[in-house]
Amino acid sequence: MSDLHPDTRAVHVPQPPLNGSVPIATPIYQTSGFAFEDPAVFADGMSRPDGAFVYGRLSNPTVRALEDAVAGLEGGVAAVAAGSGMGAINCVLFGLLSPGDHLIAQKPLYGGTATVIADLARRFGIAVSYVPEDDPAAVRDAVRPETRLLYLETIANPMTQVADLPGMCAAAREAGLISVVDNTFASPVLCRPLEHGADVVVHSVTKYLSGHSDVLGGIAVFADEALHRKVWSFSTELGATLDPFAAWLTVRGMQTLPLRMARHCENTRVLATRLAEHPAVEAVHWPGLPGHPSHQLAVKLLPGFGAVFSFDLTGGRAAGERFMSSVRLALLAPSLGGVETLILHPATTSHRSQTPGELAASGIGEGTVRVAVGIEHAEDLWSDFTQALDR
Ligand SMILES: *Cc1c(COP(=O)(O)O)cnc(C)c1O
Repeated sequence: MSDLHPDTRAVHVPQPPLNGSVPIATPIYQTSGFAFEDPAVFADGMSRPDGAFVYGRLSNPTVRALEDAVAGLEGGVAAVAAGSGMGAINCVLFGLLSPGDHLIAQKPLYGGTATVIADLARRFGIAVSYVPEDDPAAVRDAVRPETRLLYLETIANPMTQVADLPGMCAAAREAGLISVVDNTFASPVLCRPLEHGADVVVHSVTKYLSGHSDVLGGIAVFADEALHRKVWSFSTELGATLDPFAAWLTVRGMQTLPLRMARHCENTRVLATRLAEHPAVEAVHWPGLPGHPSHQLAVKLLPGFGAVFSFDLTGGRAAGERFMSSVRLALLAPSLGGVETLILHPATTSHRSQTPGELAASGIGEGTVRVAVGIEHAEDLWSDFTQALDR
């Protein structure tokens, strides 16, 4: 290098050899591409998901660390990360479906997913039938010769219905369908859908996996290599790639996922059981409570009942709005899965595009408040909720 001009030396930064050292923490490979000594290795890397790292839209070592970590937690063979949960969901749906196909989806569905599926039907000629999340017979009835895929969510938003994963995935398997499960609300700590017969698991890693409200990301995990390869290939076309820094933050956050989930669930148990006894509260929707329609299923399927719940205030919309503006510790915000407790009013925010009829059908009232419980001390949260309810 010493015979080169400073202009050239400034450009070609030497890379220190690691000489056998292995970093304890995952390094951030903040590079858009990789250089090669062997042109054949370069060419091979372009053509498959597990070849050499070539270009960031195809793969990156920090992103791969995340993909391997989540695939390991979910019990899958490989994963494809994306720039958001919706990016991962779109990679899977557009990667696996073609015009003329038919898809069966559960209702209720996460809002963004519901919109994409409606668009598939309206703009891309992919028909859809909706079934309840716990009715395998309805799946069998809905199957047509051109049906390809069943789409489920482990725990739904905001009324927290739990899907009958073993029953629904078995019905899909009998009919030769691919089952896709959005496991965002449960995380692999509470549920591993591949163990219940699913073929693909998707996550918004924005939520519990990263866990600190500082990342937007998504991931799809696959039970078999062929599906992984197909979706990976489409993901390189779509380009909804995850950034290495977001992958790094997520890998870092995931090291405490089991600890966080335990506290999230325990705090939720405290709040949900106490709110159920409170005179200002008409109903609490959380699968850990014996009165919830999914309680029996949740007891069978989940070692914990999740950390999102909703409740209806006896005073309706006015009471809901007063509660929202009276909390001091809980933040009024969208999203969930971070260490902070967040609350929102579905009727005016996450579910604002639903008609009053649709809202009523999903059980969401004017006074329904959704809570995404954080990992603060439970008594501080309870004090905040009671002072807000007292007003
Ligand atoms: C947030 C969320 C998504 C979408 O994820 P983004 O990271 O916001 O794109 C999908 N499914 C569920 C269940 C979610 O909570």
